[in-house]
Amino acid sequence: MNDTYRKALVVGLGYRTGLATANFLAARGVDVAVTDTKSADELADIIAKLDTSVRVIAGNQEPSILDEGFDVAVLSPGVPRIIPLVREAENRRIPVIAEIELAYRNMKGYTVGITGTDGKSTTTSLTGHILSSLGFHTLVGGNIGIPLISLAQQTTDKTVTVIELSSFMLETIDTFKPDVAAILNVTPDHLDRYNGMDEYFAAKKRIFMNQSDDDWFVYNMDSDMLMAARGEYPVNSLCFSTGNNEADAFIFNDRLYFSMLGVDLPVARLDDIPVLGIHNVQNVLASVLMVIALHKKTGTSPDPGRIVDAIRTFKGLEHRMEQAGEYMGRTFVNDSKATTIGAVEMAVRSIKDKGILIIGGRTKGDDYSRLRDVVMEKARGIVLIGESAEMFASIFSGMNFTKAADMEDAVVKAMRMSAEGDMILLSPACASFDMFTSYDERGKVFKECVKKLAGGKISWT
Ligand code: ADP
Repeated sequence: MNDTYRKALVVGLGYRTGLATANFLAARGVDVAVTDTKSADELADIIAKLDTSVRVIAGNQEPSILDEGFDVAVLSPGVPRIIPLVREAENRRIPVIAEIELAYRNMKGYTVGITGTDGKSTTTSLTGHILSSLGFHTLVGGNIGIPLISLAQQTTDKTVTVIELSSFMLETIDTFKPDVAAILNVTPDHLDRYNGMDEYFAAKKRIFMNQSDDDWFVYNMDSDMLMAARGEYPVNSLCFSTGNNEADAFIFNDRLYFSMLGVDLPVARLDDIPVLGIHNVQNVLASVLMVIALHKKTGTSPDPGRIVDAIRTFKGLEHRMEQAGEYMGRTFVNDSKATTIGAVEMAVRSIKDKGILIIGGRTKGDDYSRLRDVVMEKARGIVLIGESAEMFASIFSGMNFTKAADMEDAVVKAMRMSAEGDMILLSPACASFDMFTSYDERGKVFKECVKKLAGGKISWT
């Protein structure tokens, strides 16, 4: 460990990250206490997995905890710096660092950092998949659900760690300096936590703040916001676009071109991409640019043939434009993870001809009227689910919509409204908590209903 601590306070036990952080420090002989606002009963399962030397201060996050004296406080992702305990630690000049930062300081090898409003998890796993297919020793972690700290020990000088970063995580970094970084897109999200888009974007831009002249930064040329900030980017910047062939990676005549290889080289065909949607084409362009940049950084040469083979074998992630089945010439697509307007807009734009959109749930106060035009162009019909039904009914007024009582009813009604060749797309734009425990459950229930429909167990006529 570069920093040597004697006594550490981990703030936020969380599901995985606080646990992994406390155990990481304890394994290094640090005297660790962990604090969380939840009670010991609520945390029982996690506490059982803690190193026995770790002390738990549950149901209490009072600043007075600091009285026993700590020489560092480590914050789990999602713990805001504004809570009184953290403020007091700062007052007492106790270093406060985020888990991601602690992990970074203890990692070897190369790092690739990926952020954006949408597509982070997909692009992180795709980049990891390509790199490991090319033979790099690759690890994938961060916001994708694998705490970075749990990977730190496995890294060697040759390891490439691909890290998904949320804007919240980026707010807490200090020395974190990825060899290759990307911002995939920036559209309104989390505006409850930020004072407007500029502040939200500023958090994302921290991903390259420590980069130096031999590092690389990848961005999306199709995003007005990202283009407007071009002057701020590091020297080695690369951009991708689905339309503009002045980009370093672009689409032309259904082929993916990469001009970084010296000439414009048609590396892959659109047909080589097994995952659905224009947004996944962007994710592929971004991933391959990052892979090429990493080759530059490591002084190795990219092998386009092997990169294409890797793209072809990428399976995509569950609940992101996932093919949920075919029935009577209709393709059912589960995009339950689409809880932002940007994600839904891309999903609907990706409908080839016409389709049916299943949308709704618990709203996040966004401006959903932005979806009206694209939905009008692509949706033959709209099925409204969840507590947002009235709101969407007014946004889509004059269009062909109906309300559904539950997911089964939604699938049946979508089937009735559809025609042969249609895509039937669940892309809810909302959180799931009014009807389900999570987007995962919502997607699974949708897939189950599609299966029952195809198996004749639900009648739709
Ligand atoms: P994140 O980790 O940023 O939430 P995911 O890969 O989990 O991103 O995808 C979340 C949602 O965003 C899914 O509905 C997915 O289809 C959609 N999505 C994926 N890539 C993009 C992109 N580049 N632009 C817009 N939406 C995207």
